[in-house]
Parts: sequence; C-alpha cells; structure tokens
Amino acid sequence: MSDTIYDAIIIGGSFAGLSAALQLGRARRKVLVIDEGLRRNRFASHSHGFITQDGVDPAAIAATARSQVSKYPTVRWLSGRADTVHSIPYGARTAASFEVMVGDTRNLSKTLILAVGLKDILPGIEGLEERWGKSVFHCPYCHGYELNQGQIGVIAGSELSMHQALMLPDWGPTTLIINDAFEPNADHLESLAARGVTVERSAVEAVKGHADVQLADGRTLSFSGLFVLAPFEIGSAIPHQLGLDLEPGPLGSIIKTDPMKETSMPGVYACGDAARAMASVALAVADGNLAGIGAHKSLILGAISHG
Ligand code: FAD
Ligand code: MG
Repeated sequence: MSDTIYDAIIIGGSFAGLSAALQLGRARRKVLVIDEGLRRNRFASHSHGFITQDGVDPAAIAATARSQVSKYPTVRWLSGRADTVHSIPYGARTAASFEVMVGDTRNLSKTLILAVGLKDILPGIEGLEERWGKSVFHCPYCHGYELNQGQIGVIAGSELSMHQALMLPDWGPTTLIINDAFEPNADHLESLAARGVTVERSAVEAVKGHADVQLADGRTLSFSGLFVLAPFEIGSAIPHQLGLDLEPGPLGSIIKTDPMKETSMPGVYACGDAARAMASVALAVADGNLAGIGAHKSLILGAISHG
C-alpha cells in the first residue's frame, strides 16, 4: 500500500480521463490515473472530427495526451485495471474518502473521477467484429466522409436503425438491410423513399471481403462501408459497485451527472462516453475538462466547509 492520499484518482486514462488529469495537474494537485488501455476507438486507425487532430491515428492522439499530462510532476500513471472502489464510511474518514484497489495495491483519494468509456456490443453476424472500425462503423460523422460517396449499407438492429438510414444518404447512396430486426411501417417506407434509401429485406448471413454482405437468398451486395447501431454498456462495473444513479437511453445506460460532472455520490465525478449522451473524442475531452475543474473546486470547497 502506498501512503499517498491523492487529491483525485482518475479511472480511465483515455481522452476524457487525461483531459481531467490535465486540469488537476495544472492546479498542482496529486493525481493518480489508472488505465487498462482499452480505448473504445482502438479498432480504428484514423480519428476524425476533432479539430487539430483530424485524420490522426487515435493511438497517437492518446499518446500525445499522455505525454503532455506526464510533464506535470504531481500526476502519476498506473497501468492496470481498477478492480474495486469503496467509499470510506464517514467517521472512518481521515482525509481520504475513496479506496481504489488495483490487484493487491490499495490507493486512497479524496475525490474520484470515472472516465471508463463504453463497451460496444456488436451484432453476432459472422465477419462483422473483425471489420469494426475498419469498414463497419456506427458514427457517420467519424467515418462517413472517407467512404467517398460510395455505396453504404446499414444493417438494422432495431427500429432505431431508421435514424442511421435517414442520415447516411448525405454521405453516399444508402441501402437499409432490415435483417428481420423490425417491420418497417408505411411512415418508415415513405421517409426512406424521400431520402432515396433502398430497402433490402433478405436477412444477412455474413460480412466478407471489404464490406460485402452475403444475404440469405444467395446474393452478395458490395459496399464501401457498413453501419450498425450497437447497444453499449459502461466500460467498468465500478459505477454499479458504488450504486451511482444511471441515466437510461435507447442503446444503454450512462452515468448520471450534474452540469459540473458530479455523480449522485458526492466527490465522485464522471466524464466522457460513460457519462454523456453524445460520444466523440472532442466531447470526451471537453467533458474531462469540466470534470477536472469540478473535482478541483470540490477539493477547495470541501476543505473549507470541513474546517
Ligand atoms: P475511452 O476512450 O473508451 O477510454 C476509456 C478508458 O478507460 C480505456 O482506456 C479503458 O481501458 C479504461 N478503463 C475502463 N475501466 C477501467 C478500469 N476499471 N480500470 C482502469 N481503466 C479502465 N470519435 C471521434 O471523435 N472520431 C472518430 O473518428 C471516432 N471513431 C470511432 C471509431 C470506433 C470504431 C469507435 C467504437 C468509436 C469511435 N469514436 C470516434 C468515439 C470515441 O472512441 C469515443 O468517443 C472516445 O474514445 C471516448 O473517450 P473516453 O475517454 O470517454 O473513453
Ligand atoms: Mg478517459
């Protein structure tokens, strides 16, 4: 066990977590960033839509972020998984409020920032998973432009896939493959027609080649890229362990936070994909910036109000 009591332990050292660490490091606060290295976009070799970093390998963006944050002497990095977190019961509290276990190592802190990201739950279609982030995507803003207005396929997962199908014609001629996921009604068909979307009813057998969809009726449709709407889960069980309030959404729940990114548990902040409805690198960075400042303010105000 280390004797250090950190001002903040940040769980998740990707875009959101490092952005929070930057604010706290610049305030000369003692910070421990714990990261397991499973960034959500690790499957993609180019990241788009974040100004100044457009088209850059997301691993390079994360590495630059880490090297910039590492220059602040009060910030420490620990590679590994935070397994459990306990809120230290009031009364037993000295200066530390949280205990974070990484294997057998106990780490103590006054505040906690959860930047644990999300895990995508991909449809179990043969050949899809290995093409995730390469020719199968979920976000048109991230990967639509690079398809160069080629043919785009949307493999439906539910009625929610209507949204993708209606958006994507801005990036290329679009086919919605229903794949038995829902039954389009007259309104659906009318809006799809208005956007020039082709509707394909045969089910999907497998994805092959670059983005070739093999259909159950024996035909193969070739696309420049495919889109699926994947449900997700929060990247760690820690929010559940702590009993934090969640905010349910159509594809999964995220951690509920106030405008300064504090969760339902005082002293616990959350930021990035795990704690906001829209997900991108730019938004994760902005969210982490807020959480870092929020946690820093709580350290000052907490110290004043507790004498
Ligand atoms: P993440 O980047 O997911 O990082 C979470 C970190 O927390 C991980 O390193 C994880 O290992 C760590 N972690 C979780 N639990 C623990 C634990 N218990 N202990 C230690 N560490 C833990 N966005 C764009 O803006 N442009 C794009 O082009 C783009 N392309 C994408 C392509 C794909 C295929 C996908 C899936 C997403 C893409 N995104 C893109 C979205 C982008 O990846 C996310 O918005 C962004 O990664 C969110 O950052 P984050 O810091 O919140 O979470
Ligand atoms: Mg992060």
